[in-house]
Amino acid sequence: MRILLTNDDGIHAPGIHALYRTLCSLGEVYLVAPERPRSAAGHAITLHKPLRLTAQTVADGIPGHGCSGTPSDCVSLGLEVILEGRCDLVVSGINAGANLGWDLTYSGTVAAAIEGAILKIPSMAISVTLEGGADIFDFAPAAEFAAELAVRMHQNPLPENTLLNVNVPAISRSELQGVEVTHQGKREYFDRIDARTDPTGRPYYWLGGSLREETPDPGSDVHAVLSNRISVTPVHLDMTAYSLIERVAGWELG
Ligand code: MN
Repeated sequence: MRILLTNDDGIHAPGIHALYRTLCSLGEVYLVAPERPRSAAGHAITLHKPLRLTAQTVADGIPGHGCSGTPSDCVSLGLEVILEGRCDLVVSGINAGANLGWDLTYSGTVAAAIEGAILKIPSMAISVTLEGGADIFDFAPAAEFAAELAVRMHQNPLPENTLLNVNVPAISRSELQGVEVTHQGKREYFDRIDARTDPTGRPYYWLGGSLREETPDPGSDVHAVLSNRISVTPVHLDMTAYSLIERVAGWELG
């Protein structure tokens, strides 16, 4: 198996190194990752400046290429330039932090897997989440699960235009309560803008906010990880709200 490995936390992030070491048991792994952290880059691509790939060795001996662009750029360049178009699987992660619910649209981790799907390569995004109450990231169970899932995806290719988004609670193997195939849940934040004043008296802002505590929807990704289960969400590239086509057509626009 030829695997393209990327992330949005950057080429020096421990999550991608854990994944590299585990996936090597399945075949040839090519690491192409942003040369600096690009979390929340979404699906941005770089169109107006040159992109560079720099061969380097990270984490005491892992060969890879740092890319000056976004996670999505890493997939495009990795696939065409480094793997010369021959790729069986794109894996993005392991992200340090959840990619659940509506946060998928902000996520560079998920966007890289979406780019893989657009380029017709089976793709998964994988994240470790502290949602269940853990306070440190342990990437080992997630890396093992990614390898298991990679084999299954290779044996049973998913239809085109789809990918898998995986979230693994950061708890020990013995505490994990299995795997749940889920739907995308909801995440809402409040107090999203923190307005401050700089020493010269001018306002500045931090985006962020706190998660609104709601009882999560059973069957959702959020519910699964809060129940100490690994969440696997099949994701479709088609964002159409089919139930609204008739209603909006009924406005007889134009
Ligand atoms: Mn990230």
